[in-house]
Amino acid sequence: MTTKELYTKDARVWVEHPVKVWEGATVTSDYRSGVLIVKIDQTGEIRQIKIKDENQMPPLRNPSLLIGENDLTSLSYLHEPAVLHNLKVRFCDRNAIYTYCGIVLVAINPYYDLPIYGDETIMMYRGQAMGDLDPHIFAVSEEAYTKLERERRDQSIIVSGESGAGKTVSAKYAMRYFAAVGGNASETQVERKVLASSPIMESIGNAKTTRNDNSSRFGKFIEIHFDELYRISGASMRTYLLEKSRVVYQSAGERNYHIFYQLCAAAVNMPELQLDHQDSFQYLNQGGSPNIDGVDDLRAFNETRNALTTLGVSETEQANMFTVLATVLHLGNVQLYDCDPDAEPNEDGADGAHISSNDKHLQTVCSLLGISRAELGRWLTHRRIASAHEVIVSRMDVQRAAFARDALAKRMYGELFAWLVRAVNRALDTGHAKKHFIGVLDIYGFETFEINSFEQFCINYANEKLQQQFNSHVFKLEQDEYIKEEISWKMIDFYDNQPCIDLIEERLGVLALLDEECRVPQGSDAGFVAKLHQNCTKYPHFMKPRFGNAAFIIKHFADNVEYQCGGFLEKNRDTVSEEQLECIKSATSCRLIHTMFAEDRPLDHTSTATLPPPSRRRTTPSLNIGSLTQPPRRASGQKQTVGAQFRASLSALMCTLSATTPHYVRCIKPNDTKQPFSFDPARAVHQLRYRLLCLHKDVDRTNIKATCGKILKKHLKDPDKYQFGATKIFFRAGQVAYLEKIRAEI
Ligand code: ATP
Ligand code: MG
Repeated sequence: MTTKELYTKDARVWVEHPVKVWEGATVTSDYRSGVLIVKIDQTGEIRQIKIKDENQMPPLRNPSLLIGENDLTSLSYLHEPAVLHNLKVRFCDRNAIYTYCGIVLVAINPYYDLPIYGDETIMMYRGQAMGDLDPHIFAVSEEAYTKLERERRDQSIIVSGESGAGKTVSAKYAMRYFAAVGGNASETQVERKVLASSPIMESIGNAKTTRNDNSSRFGKFIEIHFDELYRISGASMRTYLLEKSRVVYQSAGERNYHIFYQLCAAAVNMPELQLDHQDSFQYLNQGGSPNIDGVDDLRAFNETRNALTTLGVSETEQANMFTVLATVLHLGNVQLYDCDPDAEPNEDGADGAHISSNDKHLQTVCSLLGISRAELGRWLTHRRIASAHEVIVSRMDVQRAAFARDALAKRMYGELFAWLVRAVNRALDTGHAKKHFIGVLDIYGFETFEINSFEQFCINYANEKLQQQFNSHVFKLEQDEYIKEEISWKMIDFYDNQPCIDLIEERLGVLALLDEECRVPQGSDAGFVAKLHQNCTKYPHFMKPRFGNAAFIIKHFADNVEYQCGGFLEKNRDTVSEEQLECIKSATSCRLIHTMFAEDRPLDHTSTATLPPPSRRRTTPSLNIGSLTQPPRRASGQKQTVGAQFRASLSALMCTLSATTPHYVRCIKPNDTKQPFSFDPARAVHQLRYRLLCLHKDVDRTNIKATCGKILKKHLKDPDKYQFGATKIFFRAGQVAYLEKIRAEI
């Protein structure tokens, strides 16, 4: 089929538009080399389009009868404008937020509460095959649940998308579905507990950001366990990379973790914590945006408490939790001076960090925990440096002291978070055998900002791994299909991102070089980048930026991202003053502190799966590699770096996922203003440009093979354009549309 034959008068095409991204147009006269004349449908404007390369003709539009299809792969043309248009028509004209794209469920955030999540809808989807009803998160959940039964293979639902796209909401609906269909009349507690884990995790791990009022600042993988009769028997959760920097710092318009504001809202009921209005705490007021529309922090506090109670966290433990949280807040308010504030005016106050003897916040920290004020005061302003020959204790400057104090606060919060995850896991572990599971992964999507740091690097690394898992799954499905259909077909388009992962994971790759720089005595961020530039240029996915020596570029599957190296070492080391830690651990009036730190594995706040007790471990299927591969304790006592740890927990996650049948949900954020059903094509297309890969769909099921053969021979002269399988015909791109065009003309 030549270009001239396709672009004849009245052919319908898409032309680019600066705001709409694409707009419809109609060809006004048959294409002659070099110029295509079109009329823009909406404005009637006639436009001459210069064609430099005939491979880049304006994309052709789908026949109108296909518009609004609930599976994008049934479109004849599956290019960007077709996908965008179809999603938009469904979303804006029909309020249909879900659309299939082959094996992926595309979910567009409506920012509107639709009446499509009730129990009656759940019952409607129960037992139905995926294509029988409208696309829905429940249809995907049902598919996973039936496959679990039918194939006796564990399943996973992998939810992706950018911040605010609706991942957490989708994950919650999937869990609600399982709770409803896997419900066990005699054990309603289990489902209740599974559902109660959400408000707890959200209060300690979610925060208001400029993109999302309830943004998850950690990744999570929840496994819902089923017994031999496919009833829910328990659950477990693993979390990834909590954003700890938020505990001590928030950008404009953002908040710290919800739980802190909830606690302040309930302060009057807990006078012993000596809390005050949230605005009076340094760790809570930096964003200058203390409230969230439609959220009542006091009410949320009571919900959190109820959920904790449902999960069996005792009153005492809850009180202890609140003590730790209050300690963190008071710690942030300890005032550091650069000379002794208590010294007489003429007295020679030594230089460096000082705390006033009547600092009431330091006093509160110490009385809340039952620790020595003198000790903590000393180690908040001094540090110990051990060299080969001696140990020196020296006063820190204010900046360093503030940094150390913040590191302590972050560590305490991180430990509390990890402890709570363990508590949730204990509550969800009912002691029943886990025969099967469905895992739900809700993890941050690919990120690229003006300035990208270690956090974005880790997030994008995780997405690179997930993308690889997706690619290989699609590849395998396609291959299986070709084998089944006895098609001889070379896979040419399989994009393998192993080279990019090698750049990050290999012996002289980014993570290893970062760890090495963290180990050498005079290691620095600059040294790290120099090492990268020295060793990594051989990797095709590595690039030096054009200017400066303070950054490096990784060519990710989704985009090229420039990472600024400032802070990489510190974030990777994540160290905290041992002396400060010892002080805190000497707490006499908060038992939780001991539990929290005693259960601690080195730096292990990110992968928080709990090992079942030995007696139960035997009944755990060996597939669950994830929970059996805790990052090893280092014999030398040296802490594992954050990067090394993240790598280990990702690799465990990948092992778990690859032993399941995956289902994909791709969430799309349609606008940046949280407007109900408003679709900003430029924003949507950006999110669609990566990730969406599609499977070939059944092409023709009704005609017998011989008839098809004749028709195709007649219309598709080039035999390379299609191939017969045992029950299907496989076409090269564009051929079906061509056939449809011919059909329309007959
Ligand atoms: P983050 O990466 O920041 O955690 P996210 O992808 O998890 O973002 P959500 O918190 O799930 O995003 O969704 C953001 C908000 O969008 C929700 O609080 C809710 O108001 C709205 N929303 C998302 N999905 C739906 C839905 N299906 N129906 C109605 N509103 C929704
Ligand atoms: Mg979320």
